[in-house]
Amino acid sequence: MAQADIALIGLAVMGQNLILNMNDHGFVVCAFNRTVSKVDDFLANEAKGTKVVGAQSLKDMVSKLKKPRRVILLVKAGQAVDDFIEKLVPLLDTGDIIIDGGNSEYRDTTRRCRDLKAKGILFVGSGVSGGEEGARYGPSLMPGGNKEAWPHIKAIFQAIAAKVGTGEPCCDWVGDEGAGHFVKMVHNGIEYGDMQLICEAYHLMKDVLGMRHEEMAQAFEEWNKTELDSFLIEITANILKYRDTDGKELLPKIRDSAGQKGTGKWTAISALEYGMPVTLIGEAVFARCLSSLKEERVQASQKLKGPKVVQLEGSKKSFLEDIRKALYASKIISYAQGFMLLRQAATEFGWTLNYGGIALMWRGGCIIRSVFLGKIKDAFERNPELQNLLLDDFFKSAVDNCQDSWRRVISTGVQAGIPMPCFTTALSFYDGYRHEMLPANLIQAQRDYFGAHTYELLTKPGEFIHTNWTGHG
Ligand code: NAP
Repeated sequence: MAQADIALIGLAVMGQNLILNMNDHGFVVCAFNRTVSKVDDFLANEAKGTKVVGAQSLKDMVSKLKKPRRVILLVKAGQAVDDFIEKLVPLLDTGDIIIDGGNSEYRDTTRRCRDLKAKGILFVGSGVSGGEEGARYGPSLMPGGNKEAWPHIKAIFQAIAAKVGTGEPCCDWVGDEGAGHFVKMVHNGIEYGDMQLICEAYHLMKDVLGMRHEEMAQAFEEWNKTELDSFLIEITANILKYRDTDGKELLPKIRDSAGQKGTGKWTAISALEYGMPVTLIGEAVFARCLSSLKEERVQASQKLKGPKVVQLEGSKKSFLEDIRKALYASKIISYAQGFMLLRQAATEFGWTLNYGGIALMWRGGCIIRSVFLGKIKDAFERNPELQNLLLDDFFKSAVDNCQDSWRRVISTGVQAGIPMPCFTTALSFYDGYRHEMLPANLIQAQRDYFGAHTYELLTKPGEFIHTNWTGHG
């Protein structure tokens, strides 16, 4: 009997939690998994006492669904998604909906969306953020794809999503084709940036200010009551306080070699592909790459010298406040760059993106959730056509208010030999973006000199000129 509102395929941690979340909100979910024995295990354990039903085959699953049928895939990204789609299509009817909630590459989503549209199936690629906890109690959901599907899934998606403020769901329609997965990718890139910025602040606190873990934890707790109020600052304070079974802090014992799964790298690659200077996320990815050269760094540390120890001028307390402001200003730059990439992708692919809506989707439920995202939403509400976050009055004065501190932190850090790739690239971007004239005139002259690539004059844009720089024929 067709009784289930929606089916979910993929009973690993994310799938199980999302099913239980949907069940909590009154939806009847039909569960299925490639290894079918996991369905019975799930029904007998985690889903015991719920309204969740199981299926023994895809055919069985489809027969249990109300129409239009809605099927969510939460399986390993890549081939597994294509394999399930191929098996599902013959079992579905025109107007039925397949949703991919995995971390798929946005180009795959665009391809699937087009292929399935031709077959009459509505495809949605949805970013799901917030990890296991988010999936269970309220993730940030970023659906995009065939918009005809949205009225049929909106109620479920907005019910299970995280809520902020007066109950606004962290989920709205993102845009066509791969837009949902693109936005999720940029979210993950921004997450890389946020994490690296916090690490740079921690490095400065530890090595320039000589702060103990407890003091650093306290500082992050204080910062969490300011503009920096966010999940990542909160967990950083907890991590700094955490003690191992021997009573000592755990953090300094952890090998300083960062892992990565690739979504930060994808964001940086997209930035290069679409010509957007998303420098902070790029540096955050490279910082992880450099950290992973642990053995090489250990050898280099014995050979390569840094500066002599530099004494901090001024009070430690005021330098700590400088670090906080440097972090805040750099974070503003990172988000400004992320939204520049979104804007460019929208132009490339003809997507209509709702930037304020995206900020709201990230405001709660996900790893980068923060009070700050509410300010970004406000900025795009004030001006939906806002070209760059830095041009909004709120952010313009926020950066202005921080910039003396930001410059002090960077010059002190450089003097002390502390690597700060994200703090410094953020400031360079800011200084580049605010300069009417950059030295790229010289690049143009050099290109014309050695390759006759031509240049334009400031007074005659659009007119390309070549100069015989050497006077030779
Ligand atoms: P996962 O480990 O990525 O995937 C496991 C699931 O995929 C199982 O149901 C498995 O079935 C199925 N699967 C794997 N290879 C398959 C294949 N070749 N054919 C068919 N099914 C296959 O699980 P997860 O961590 O729960 O993540 C699910 C999706 O959500 C992924 O795309 C992941 O990137 C994304 N995601 C994860 C998180 C997170 O915090 N974990 C957060 C956001 C998004 P069997 O049981 O039969 O092996």
